[in-house]
Amino acid sequence: MNTSLKLLKKAVEDNRLAHLLILYGSGAKERIKTVLELAAMLNCTGDIKPCKICSACNKIALGSHPDFHYLQPSKLSIGIEQVLSLQEKIYRKIYEGKYRVCLIDEANKLTLPAANALLKIAEEPPENTLIILSCSNIEAIIPTLQSRAQSVYLPSPTLTEWEEEAEAFSLSGGDPDLARKIQKFGLDKMKDLIDGYLEMVQTGDFLQTFSLFTSLEKEDCLVFLQTLAVTVREMIKKGNLSPNFLPEIGETMELLQKQVNSRLALEMLALKHINYGGSGNWLK
Ligand SMILES: [Zn+2]
Repeated sequence: MNTSLKLLKKAVEDNRLAHLLILYGSGAKERIKTVLELAAMLNCTGDIKPCKICSACNKIALGSHPDFHYLQPSKLSIGIEQVLSLQEKIYRKIYEGKYRVCLIDEANKLTLPAANALLKIAEEPPENTLIILSCSNIEAIIPTLQSRAQSVYLPSPTLTEWEEEAEAFSLSGGDPDLARKIQKFGLDKMKDLIDGYLEMVQTGDFLQTFSLFTSLEKEDCLVFLQTLAVTVREMIKKGNLSPNFLPEIGETMELLQKQVNSRLALEMLALKHINYGGSGNWLK
């Protein structure tokens, strides 16, 4: 079941909420903000919820409310022991709030046993408890869990709604997470890298790759590839570039996730792109 945020807030007001929610889309920060707002709405003692001044609203904003639980991957995944420890807490009596809210952040990193343990909880949901799985892409959640949950898509902010660096947001194609990564890496540095790469492909001067990619960590390489994919997609849309360019970028990103040498993978990509560019596929 997919519902909008507006309908979700209405469900909160009417007190008819599912026990398990999947909140996906937009950026990680935007999703956390939404969850905190929901948790405050559910526990607020003011008239207009969330009032942002009552004790419950304040504690949730500060992350100190005893009925708000936050779970995130320890190391690379969310393991079953983390879900079991949450399970132990949520069948106890609620401390001081009206509603217990558990946020499972980066829920795409739930291991299969952890996801199955969550399924068990969803089958016998504890009273007045809302478990929210947060992730950017709902496809990363196993289908059995999806079918048990109410899913809510959170749209990305528009450029006018975006309150951080606008140019990084444009360069990210409107992806809040990528925009923040670009900002962290350095907007000008990223622009230079993209321009340098495209120029190198166009001129076919492969030797330039060596200077382009020196001192890039694997994480930086991934941010570069994500940004390159957005740029290339735009160029293809405008008819300035052959569609061949895009799939190779995705494949290189997959390679990087596996433990390959990231610089070597980028050089291989450059070679392939030069081949496409050099054979007249670089359309003006
Ligand atoms: Zn309040």
